[in-house]
Amino acid sequence: MRAHLLTIGDELLIGQTTNTNAAWLGEQLTTRGIRVARSVTVGDDASTIRRELERAYADATLVVTTGGLGPTHDDLTKEVVADYFDRPLATDDALLAQIRSAYDRRERDMAEKVKDLAEVPDGFDLLDNPVGTAPGLWYQEETGGRERLLAVLPGVPTEMKRIAEASLFPRLEQRSDRRTVTHRTLQTTGIGESDLQAEIGDVSDLLDDEVHLAYLPSTSGVRLRLTSYSDRSDRAAEQLDRLEEVLRERAGQYIFGTGTDTLEAVLGDMLRSRGLTVATAESATGGYIGHRLTNVPGSSDYYLGGVVAYANSVKVGRLGVSEATLEADGAVSEAVARQMARGVREATGASIGISTTGIAGPGGGTDEKPVGTVWIGYADDETEHAVRQKFLQDRMMNKDLFSTAALDVIRRQLERKEASAPAP
Ligand code: ATP
Ligand code: MG
Repeated sequence: MRAHLLTIGDELLIGQTTNTNAAWLGEQLTTRGIRVARSVTVGDDASTIRRELERAYADATLVVTTGGLGPTHDDLTKEVVADYFDRPLATDDALLAQIRSAYDRRERDMAEKVKDLAEVPDGFDLLDNPVGTAPGLWYQEETGGRERLLAVLPGVPTEMKRIAEASLFPRLEQRSDRRTVTHRTLQTTGIGESDLQAEIGDVSDLLDDEVHLAYLPSTSGVRLRLTSYSDRSDRAAEQLDRLEEVLRERAGQYIFGTGTDTLEAVLGDMLRSRGLTVATAESATGGYIGHRLTNVPGSSDYYLGGVVAYANSVKVGRLGVSEATLEADGAVSEAVARQMARGVREATGASIGISTTGIAGPGGGTDEKPVGTVWIGYADDETEHAVRQKFLQDRMMNKDLFSTAALDVIRRQLERKEASAPAP
């Protein structure tokens, strides 16, 4: 089944409201095997809404609209769909009584205009709204061998979601013209989208109408989403296994987890299973690495604590960074990153010390050390090193990227150690 989304509201066009309804419906319908072929946003204008309905049904069986169901003058959706399907509006007495009693219970008078909410196009079903006044609407008809399905939902996201979950999705799930969708996600970090694609190379022989691969970048890394539309689960598993094997073969070093794994949780498990502890010495990230590590329940098993060493005086006084090095190399340097990692490890007795010193921006950059530069220091009982990374984002995103890079330095070091360890 193909679906079109029609999100309605001037506020969406002028950027006052972010269109989260379309994103949520797109995801929910897709995972239920309904192909969302098109998504259109229009203002509160009757002729435009009508024109887009016509367009949608030229291609799709199901149209889902949100917005414009309320009692105000700009709420036009119900009138337009009634007119489009040539179904007269009539007051639904039960609904009117229900709305009236909702007003009574809140000890409020019901404005005359609110009565319009109880008008329902003939032949339409109500989709019960447990969290608001206006119910959603459902309509289906088959004319000339063509089936048209319509769901009309309110704009308020909480109401829209409740109605969809309680009344719309169960109706759709009964239908046999859905595709089976099997998703698998591989989480990567430490490499950008285009480099990752280059690293993976051509996998087109594994992709077709039934098997898809998507790259989904964010500040914590690029997610690889593998999808099979086969309706045989054994075949879907086989297709995804084969694709996953190739991706791991070519880009395995960047893959840290699957599904909704986070880097900090995966790293936490690695530290715990090896009986290791970590401490942080943070300048540019201002405690953000410690924040991310402690977001994981049970992180006290392996995270000892840290020093936010923003000022040079704290780098010297608390972490033992040499004043001479600061003078010679500057705070954002390989030597200082290493001394910070070493210093926090010694101060806390942790197995591993990790540090960041960099320039998050917007000010403070130079030709030699531009905004977005970070040095990440690593120290354990055997090795000590620092790596330089360079990002191009704004301050908040740079801090996020620096912290991800630092967590990944630890993960990679542990993996390297494991790979080089003699077999037991
Ligand atoms: P109401 O009874 O509140 O008038 P409605 O169905 O008429 O309900 P709208 O008036 O279109 O809904 O929108 C109500 C509010 O819901 C808007 O102010 C907006 O903040 C939010 N909203 C509407 N559409 C969307 C959307 N597509 N994504 C996210 N929020 C939305
Ligand atoms: Mg409205």
